[in-house]
Amino acid sequence: MNKFLLALLGLALALVPRAHAAGSGKLTVTWLDLAVHGLAVVVETPGGKVLLIDTGGTRAAKPGGEPDYNAGRDAIAPFLTARGYTEIAGISVSHPHGDHYGGASWLLENWKVRSFVDNGYRGRGQTDGYLKVRTTAQQTAGVYLLNQAAAAQSAELRTAAQKEGGNYRAVVAGDVLDWDPALTVEVLSPPAEFLGTTTDPAKISEHGLLNQNSIVLRVQHGKNVFLFPGDCYGGGFEGHLKAKVAPERLKTTVLTAPHHGFNPGTNFPKMVQAEIVVASCLPDYPSNANTPNPRSPGTRAHKVFGALGANVYVTAWHGNVQVVSDGETVKATIQRESEPWPEPNDALPAPAPAKK
Ligand SMILES: [Zn+2]
Repeated sequence: MNKFLLALLGLALALVPRAHAAGSGKLTVTWLDLAVHGLAVVVETPGGKVLLIDTGGTRAAKPGGEPDYNAGRDAIAPFLTARGYTEIAGISVSHPHGDHYGGASWLLENWKVRSFVDNGYRGRGQTDGYLKVRTTAQQTAGVYLLNQAAAAQSAELRTAAQKEGGNYRAVVAGDVLDWDPALTVEVLSPPAEFLGTTTDPAKISEHGLLNQNSIVLRVQHGKNVFLFPGDCYGGGFEGHLKAKVAPERLKTTVLTAPHHGFNPGTNFPKMVQAEIVVASCLPDYPSNANTPNPRSPGTRAHKVFGALGANVYVTAWHGNVQVVSDGETVKATIQRESEPWPEPNDALPAPAPAKK
């Protein structure tokens, strides 16, 4: 079969998601290919439940241009429906940036969502936009609101939920989440006092502060460890891990590239020694003060983690990336091939000139 037909067949198979097998005993994790910048990970547990780690971003319609986009409505919900799910066991938002919580409100209002988790952060950089999401979660999570119409008719349910406070929980390092008896789900960061809050505000931006305090989840299934570090990076984060987590517990089978691949970290790649790395990002981003060329976090992740032996996948090039764990081994499946691997166009610091 020629390459084109083979690619087409692969694409067709990938586009028809098989319904999940409830209680398959396997852990299936899918990084969704989004039309906008963001991260949305679907976790299907061995016992047959589905949870989300982050919910991607949104885009407003441009007059005469692209229509509006909501990762919850346009990427996550269709995927869950195709897999046969009718409710979401839990949503965890790593940190209050729109590329991570963008789809959450839509999902909370249109799907049965049984629990909602965030880091409870209320400090510098927190926005009204995100606090609204948290409030919606507090009001709706754990309540059966199947769609907007039902919600309108279910004023009593909503009132009851508000009284109960909903199934909302703020977590910090040391907390354990009850997702599935076959999984051990631990929060490695942020610490209860949060990172960077005592740093001179001139030295850490609001944006950096929120990134650094992302919820970091360690999910263990048998021998396999999945690590979801949100947008964490930087010395404060690496120092916290080093001080609080035993090195062997950081060894990772499957890693979400920190901060979409933009910032793999200084020591972090060696600390985790990931076998598979998945970066959720667009192909490239405008240049900034530090890089004259368009920035490509996928290329950066490939370069840094690939150099340490990891297999690196990037949603922009490979489409949905899915990893299935049976507790012993992991198997990655991609939606489309990326061949050849796009040329690096991200200006990493040039190697120091050789000394004469
Ligand atoms: Zn982000």
